[in-house]
Amino acid sequence: MADDNLKFNTLTIHGGQQPDKAYGAVMPPIYQTSTYAQAAPGDHQGFEYSRSGNPTRKALEDSIASIEGGKFGLAFGSGLAAIDCVIKTLKPGDEVISTNDLYGGTYRLFTKIFEPLGIKFHFVDMDNADKIGDYVNENTKIIWVETPTNPMMNIIDIKAMSKVAKAANALLIVDNTFATPYLQRPLEMGADIVMHSATKYLGGHSDVVLGLLAVKDEAIAEKLYFIQNSSGAVCGPMDAFLVVRGIKTLHVRMQRHCENGKAIAHFLKDHPKVENVYWPGFESHPNHSVAKEQMKDFGGMISFSIKGGSLEDTRKVISSFNVFTLAESLGGVESLAGHPASMTHASIPKEEREKLGIVDSLIRLSVGIEDIDDLKADIDQALNKI
Ligand SMILES: *Cc1c(COP(=O)(O)O)cnc(C)c1O
Repeated sequence: MADDNLKFNTLTIHGGQQPDKAYGAVMPPIYQTSTYAQAAPGDHQGFEYSRSGNPTRKALEDSIASIEGGKFGLAFGSGLAAIDCVIKTLKPGDEVISTNDLYGGTYRLFTKIFEPLGIKFHFVDMDNADKIGDYVNENTKIIWVETPTNPMMNIIDIKAMSKVAKAANALLIVDNTFATPYLQRPLEMGADIVMHSATKYLGGHSDVVLGLLAVKDEAIAEKLYFIQNSSGAVCGPMDAFLVVRGIKTLHVRMQRHCENGKAIAHFLKDHPKVENVYWPGFESHPNHSVAKEQMKDFGGMISFSIKGGSLEDTRKVISSFNVFTLAESLGGVESLAGHPASMTHASIPKEEREKLGIVDSLIRLSVGIEDIDDLKADIDQALNKI
């Protein structure tokens, strides 16, 4: 099927997919095999060894390429393994300019693994693209953007960053985990590589850990494929299958995540026990106009702080949820709540944390696709415990 004329809600189901060649299976079979029979040395049917390639993984790689508007996809054992592959395109002395409020695991990979190997990272506030120029020099190779950010829901202007990257002769990489291609397609806005933790919305059911890259340019894709095959951080066929299946309902799930997210954001805003609500759909959000321009809708991720909230009060609220589950991660069908200060961002010193807005009374919600009345009632009863 030629994908070019199909709309997004069709591509999630059909993009890059064909019935299986053996028996016409509509879903890609889970090719649980390490190797493939050859008729004569080198005479094979496109697959030789499952680190180098596997048909189930290929179905997923073609799917992500299609829904991100790219030409090539690569699947890894985790989101961090995908990021690891991108940074391995660099050599000692090269520099990366990165969003400052980055996913904690990405920050750890950059500073604890790659910095000691001689790669330099600048963590900067990307609120204003004009400020980035100060960090550009002849060693700048990558501009790394995460938007919306976690947990403060800041929005970075992808098109503006693409201009900075082009002028610097550097690649623009966008971690699109929070938005998904349903909400924003960075390759169409000038990004060179899109990265995903498919563990989150793409998988969508909290049952798999997996990472993805999508690329338009063949030379970049070849470089990444060489590293993927050489370093070997690939995903298994069962996990690839789960994400192929997840992507088929991405548009339906995202639509509901956005509807419920909007309703919860407004509910929190009007709640007497709540101080601040961080959600890019509010006109008062500092980057609302950029969000409106580059995103189709505003997603299901929301953070809020409790009025006068002590750590003790906050712990009481977050432990009192019945429908929301207290857990790390996000993007599944079920609603989750997290406490950034003691969970995802505990490794950042309190003073640094608070500079980013991550106060002790901040709670992060991944709003799921349950009935909205049950979600509101659950938040209300938890807040009324204080
Ligand atoms: C979870 C996450 C990652 C890391 O992905 P894993 O699949 O956990 O390795 C990277 N970036 C963002 C924004 C994430 O939420």
